[in-house]
Amino acid sequence: MGLLSSHVVDRDFGVVAGDPTELRALEDQLQAFCAALEADPIDERDDVAATRTYVTRLADAGLLRHVVAARHGGASPQLRATDLCLVRQWLARTSGALDSAFVMQGLGSYAIGLAGEAPLQDRLLPRVAAGQEICAFALTEPEAGSDVAAMTTTATPVPGGGVRLDGTKCFISNAPCASSYVVFAREAVLGDGGKPRHGAFWVPGDAKGLSVTPIRVIAPHPIGTVDMCGVEVPAHARIGPPGDGLRLAFATLETFRVSVGAAALGFADRALATAVSHLQARVQFGRPLATQQGLRFALADVATEHVAAQLLVYRAAAARDRGNASADMVAMAKLAATEAAQRVIDRAVQSLGGLGVTVGSVTERLYREIRALRIYEGTSEIQKLVIARALFDA
Ligand SMILES: Cc1cc2nc3c(=O)[nH]c(=O)nc-3n(C[C@H](O)[C@H](O)[C@H](O)COP(=O)(O)OP(=O)(O)OC[C@H]3O[C@@H](n4cnc5c(N)ncnc54)[C@H](O)[C@@H]3O)c2cc1C
Repeated sequence: MGLLSSHVVDRDFGVVAGDPTELRALEDQLQAFCAALEADPIDERDDVAATRTYVTRLADAGLLRHVVAARHGGASPQLRATDLCLVRQWLARTSGALDSAFVMQGLGSYAIGLAGEAPLQDRLLPRVAAGQEICAFALTEPEAGSDVAAMTTTATPVPGGGVRLDGTKCFISNAPCASSYVVFAREAVLGDGGKPRHGAFWVPGDAKGLSVTPIRVIAPHPIGTVDMCGVEVPAHARIGPPGDGLRLAFATLETFRVSVGAAALGFADRALATAVSHLQARVQFGRPLATQQGLRFALADVATEHVAAQLLVYRAAAARDRGNASADMVAMAKLAATEAAQRVIDRAVQSLGGLGVTVGSVTERLYREIRALRIYEGTSEIQKLVIARALFDA
């Protein structure tokens, strides 16, 4: 089937894992969901209001069932990376803010599903799938970005078995509207040889001592700095044993990182389709621009990169679902897809000429939306560190 088939399962990759009938049904559902939103778009100028609306719509359509396990109201026994990728690829074609509203529900609750106490899981996760909670994942700090282990937020024990959290997290997606955070912090008790250890904690958005300052980024995306000043959390809000925090953070990122690549594919799909139809319709020098070989070759180049990236993304997702993904496989998928999408979108902007940069055009929106994907959940450089480690240090 064609390069631009709407359904990913029809693109003949041979690497998309799962029952083709179920995957097609999921894609049919996503097609109808996105078409309805495109016909009656949500105003994203207020990104908090848009996120709340998107979370409700996603929950009503049952799509948030793909971010929790079946025992908590999810669609599959365990989260399936392939499903996450298909959902994100479709949603990103329509809107980056919609894609973010979807994935943050998973990113901000995954550690709880992995290692939270059963009562916390049973209370919270069905509400996540039902869109009754808005989730956030609080790892990055002003002095601990790529180097997450340098975090200085502290978890100090308090009587009763809980902890008091003090510190600042920054660039936290959903912070201006989150009702539920997973927060990572340095434990008071050091590990072997005096090494710092880290814990993970569930914190409600209305916790006393927690305050949020919104940050504005170049595309609609609720995000902010989270200050915690003496935020007390009880013992049952601890996620996993003491010292397990970074393992949980990395397990979360390893699961969701491949889906960042899929979101990039969705942006690139939209850009490629927009460029092709524009070049076919636009006449200059007496003939359609699509007949100019220079322009055809330029799109052929980026289309090839785009398909190569899709192979890497769905290969990594399938490996993840089979339980044999390696860190470098996931890193390659994210690196290739986000970098290729940036080039596809830039080429689409160029293909449209002045219209490509007109505020309100599809290409202008995609140009702003793609940029952050090469930064969050591990920058492109950090993905290269992971790949190089597999090359040189294995
Ligand atoms: C839109 C958006 C949403 C985000 N959402 C969240 C969220 O929900 N939760 C959360 O916890 N964080 C979130 N982040 C934060 C994001 O994960 C960090 O921005 C990212 O990890 C990079 O950290 P930094 O910005 O401090 O850059 P730095 O780590 O300071 O890096 C700056 C530059 O140096 C490069 N660099 C750093 N170290 C090396 C090295 N060893 N070798 C080579 N190059 C290097 C980086 O690649 C980058 O190009 C978000 C960020 C953005 C932009």
